[in-house]
Amino acid sequence: MLRRLFSAIRFSRPDQACVLMYHRIAALQSDIWNITVHPDEFEQHIQILSKQATVVPTEELVAALERKEIKRNTIAITFDDGYADNFLVAKPILDHYKLPATFFIASQNIGREEEFWWDELENIFLFCDYLPSVFTSTIAGETITFDLGNESRLSHDLKQQHQRWDACEHEPPTRRCALFLQLWQRLKPLPHAEQQIQLAHIRQWANIDPSTRPEFRSMSGAQLQSLGDSNLHSIGVHTISHPALAHHPKEFQWQELLDNQAFLTNAVGKPINLVAYPYGNYNHETMEVVDQAGFKGAFTTEATGVKNTSHKHRLGRFQVPNLSKQAFEVQLSKWQRTR
Ligand SMILES: [Zn+2]
Repeated sequence: MLRRLFSAIRFSRPDQACVLMYHRIAALQSDIWNITVHPDEFEQHIQILSKQATVVPTEELVAALERKEIKRNTIAITFDDGYADNFLVAKPILDHYKLPATFFIASQNIGREEEFWWDELENIFLFCDYLPSVFTSTIAGETITFDLGNESRLSHDLKQQHQRWDACEHEPPTRRCALFLQLWQRLKPLPHAEQQIQLAHIRQWANIDPSTRPEFRSMSGAQLQSLGDSNLHSIGVHTISHPALAHHPKEFQWQELLDNQAFLTNAVGKPINLVAYPYGNYNHETMEVVDQAGFKGAFTTEATGVKNTSHKHRLGRFQVPNLSKQAFEVQLSKWQRTR
């Protein structure tokens, strides 16, 4: 009976592949964007994939799409951003199970003692022990003033609420979270230099020095090179400074994508033909750039499978949250049936 049920489920799956998207494999105090998978859970995901799916290099999946030969139960594994934990934690697990992955690397912070702007912003507003009560700043010509009220001091209760907050699913639970989200939304479309000016202003207001937490570092140059040397894994383009591309002119998009490609090609000494759009954000000009530059495949963050009719520069991916073994198994089966 069970066997019949399982085969019924298997045969109901359409001919489509799934591309999984991970960002961070780590144990962190908060995960407001739901993008961090604990190393133990990650190993369980990989175990399940190695037993139940055909995991192929992302390049192979894109080549199968070109030939219109996408096969059911095919999976590709991807990572975005280039955090050091991808190299230190994820790669050894993938190597152990001999499963390939593609790492899309934003190169601005490679080998640098700098956090991504969104991590530093979150740390200041959600976890600084003390902040002045009134915040004022002019961002892209608009002045905002925000009163933190009685949340200047980070109480134990506030800290716990911030550690539990899932910004994708829930409204900001505190005034600090509300201000953080407002600033995150305003900084996201800006160019990197402008984001850094705003961050400098926020640091000064909060009376803190810039610092890099080790667990928020990007890979070093040597780590990137070592990852590139692997015959199992590959590297992909994720721009230099991780801009929301659709908010910028075509020339800027071209430069961000092609300069990143040149940097990564030089670092790993191999051709790089795949792209993942930062924040999954793109417009028709982005697609023109990746087409004109000859990229073989480009990935969004739209939660869809890859099928023979998919556009090669608009390929969906499924964001993998910190799921237990059982929950991952169920979710994987659902993704494989999501058109
Ligand atoms: Zn990214």
